[in-house]
Amino acid sequence: MSSGDVVGPVDATVVPRFAGPPTFARLPALTGVESADVVIAGVPFDAGVSYRPGARFGPAHIRQSSRLLRPYNPALGVSPFGVRQVADAGDIACNPFDIPAAIGQIEAAASQLLQGGRRLLALGGDHTVALPLLRAVHAVHGPVAVLHFDAHLDTWDTYFGEPYTHGTPFRRAAEERLLDPLRSVHVGIRGPLYSDTDLGDSERLGFMAIHCADIERDGLAAAITRMTARLGSAPVYVSVDIDVLDPAFAPGTGTPEAGGMTSRELLAVLRTLSNVVGADIVEVAPAYDHAEITGIAAAHVAYELLSVMAKEA
Ligand code: MN
Ligand code: MN
Repeated sequence: MSSGDVVGPVDATVVPRFAGPPTFARLPALTGVESADVVIAGVPFDAGVSYRPGARFGPAHIRQSSRLLRPYNPALGVSPFGVRQVADAGDIACNPFDIPAAIGQIEAAASQLLQGGRRLLALGGDHTVALPLLRAVHAVHGPVAVLHFDAHLDTWDTYFGEPYTHGTPFRRAAEERLLDPLRSVHVGIRGPLYSDTDLGDSERLGFMAIHCADIERDGLAAAITRMTARLGSAPVYVSVDIDVLDPAFAPGTGTPEAGGMTSRELLAVLRTLSNVVGADIVEVAPAYDHAEITGIAAAHVAYELLSVMAKEA
């Protein structure tokens, strides 16, 4: 698609930002464009949470908080909605009571959205949704480098005997060989664990861990260098649990942990990425948010991810 054919967001000089469609960044709906390079989809599912519920309302909250985004990204020198067709596919309908059924629905819908070489940005939902999204991405790209931003490892085996929860998606993904075990990395890990074996388990499943303590000790540039070397030239799937940010920057989430990244640090890391074939932003729970702090952070995370995708799509 040539950039001249691209349908962008509603013009904010004509329709003020607090008006207009409730799509992400007031972009066109997928049904309103002939084709798309990058698709945004909501995944309003939170039956996999272990603590505070409410991430099912995340997609609508992130969209609401995205109204103020402007079309040009000066940090990357790109107009993400101008050089590529980005469109909002709405929400993936999934069963709020039956986790395996919901996982199947999310995988099927994501597979359809990825058709024709499109890239997908999913707005969660709790972190359970990363598993079906990764299955769909794997079906197109094979094993991908998983770049996982989170306070938590999410490589635990089960909760209350249940294998499919928001604390287990990356163990399941490793078992299913959806990720490249030499290229995957956690960023932002911190806080108390269940056991001294948790970190070793995560490493054996294929994740290098960059802890918040590493960023504190060595600086952000060193962390980016380690991350970039680990990812190599593999196709990258980015999964952003918004609790990677300190509760000061993202209070509206289900399992907050003190001592996290700043939103400025996270956005800076995202701007260095390339080869991003898919991404999700999860665990935004608006009931615990204040003044859209978390929603705005998530909308800007989405904007940087769309920008790095647009540079290459
Ligand atoms: Mn987390
Ligand atoms: Mn998580």
